[in-house]
Amino acid sequence: TGDFQGKRITVAGLGVSGVPAAKVLHGLGALVTVVNDGDDDRAREQAAGLEVLGVTVRLGDGDTLPEGTELIVTAPGWKPDKPLFAAAEAAGVPVWGDVELAWRLRKPDAAPWLAVTGTNGKTTTVQMLAAILKAAGLRTAAVGNIGVSLLDAVLGEEQYDVLAVELSSYQLHWAPSLRAHSAAVLNLAPDHLDWHGSMEAYAADKGRIYEGNRVACVYNVADKATEDLVREADVEEGCRAIGFTLGTPGPSQLGVVDDLLVDRAFVENRHKNAQELAQVSDVRPPAPHNIANALAAAALARAFGVPAAAVREGLRSFTPDAHRIAHVADIDGVSYVDDSKATNTHAAEASLAAYEKIVWIAGGLAKGATFDELVAKSAKRLRGAVLIGADRALIREALARHAPEVPVVDLERTDTGAMLQAVQEAKRLARPGDTVLLAPACASMDMFANYNRRGEAFAQAVRELGA
Ligand code: ADP
Repeated sequence: TGDFQGKRITVAGLGVSGVPAAKVLHGLGALVTVVNDGDDDRAREQAAGLEVLGVTVRLGDGDTLPEGTELIVTAPGWKPDKPLFAAAEAAGVPVWGDVELAWRLRKPDAAPWLAVTGTNGKTTTVQMLAAILKAAGLRTAAVGNIGVSLLDAVLGEEQYDVLAVELSSYQLHWAPSLRAHSAAVLNLAPDHLDWHGSMEAYAADKGRIYEGNRVACVYNVADKATEDLVREADVEEGCRAIGFTLGTPGPSQLGVVDDLLVDRAFVENRHKNAQELAQVSDVRPPAPHNIANALAAAALARAFGVPAAAVREGLRSFTPDAHRIAHVADIDGVSYVDDSKATNTHAAEASLAAYEKIVWIAGGLAKGATFDELVAKSAKRLRGAVLIGADRALIREALARHAPEVPVVDLERTDTGAMLQAVQEAKRLARPGDTVLLAPACASMDMFANYNRRGEAFAQAVRELGA
């Protein structure tokens, strides 16, 4: 840990990471100035709370570097091309993100980090990992974008043996000195490219998670880009590349044989060349992408020395978060599933791949995505589609190109009753044995406060349908 006493530190951005960072740094004796682009009521309220402590806050100007700044601690979402960072670079001022700050402030005997990133599946995998570590009797928490905040985890009273850490590409961008015990990149698909500037830059930021790993770099055998990142990483001597696959595992891989998850990387008995970990049916939901998440979690846990029995027990005790392939109800032989968290095409593709015949409810804010690949890959599974939200024309056009025979209902309305109508239309299209799947492939903010609200609206509509 550095010495913060009397140091002039600029915290960039109020909010979930900025406010606690400012408080912690102020508490360590730093002279803290917070700069923030916005100047709304929420910002003023947060500013007032900091100012009473003696922290300076500048609202409405997030781009002027305060005089004498020695270090910037930025909110992870701040784009690297912001003028503030150009000014910092010109002045030779280092920039840390929230993860870098937590990493630097951790105690000397702090718990090692098992880190997870990827375009999709991070939260689920980190929660599975924490469940497995707990089953092994380890003191742990799932931290990052979920549960306990990283700063609380490293500074709080609670003692941990190991942390299961979810990291976004933004956080990794701003975390140059982070060194995990072991780390996994689950998958890499275009997302947030407007922020990173290019796919290469996005991949490079994700790849930082492997830098300096001590024991294992876990990659997805089906996603070569993740393996390339391992190859490019500079790791500690003896650190192993460990693959996970839905197929039969090779040496140094975890995978699936018949209905078992098996480990050929960390084998306990020298006379065997594979270790059985769990049944596929121990993983919930048993969708292929989720089995991949379970294998990645198992690989990290095994890298930390967790016995096979704890992997099984942990996976069995795991319950997925809401709105992630959540089964809502069966009505007239049709199953209704809420995957509102599928906010990009890669996630939606994974959930569409998990069902035989689907009436797909999709649409919202596309965030610059294109839908051709998703629709082309999923066309044969579609019984029909019901489109909602601002960018539904993009999906409608992709359906017309790649699945012209699939009936499409295009809902123009965006009021609160729209989801009920969408579900009614989906019910009309569905046949017994089908799945009505909300997997929007889009963000929700055009119609809902967030994906939780969207999923709740869907579940509510399904309940009304069944009533
Ligand atoms: P993240 O934290 O990365 O956003 P979540 O675990 O919250 O990931 O899952 C988000 C959505 O991504 C899920 O609702 C599901 O549709 C999809 N998903 C989960 N795991 C995977 C995976 N391994 N590959 C592709 N899509 C996935």
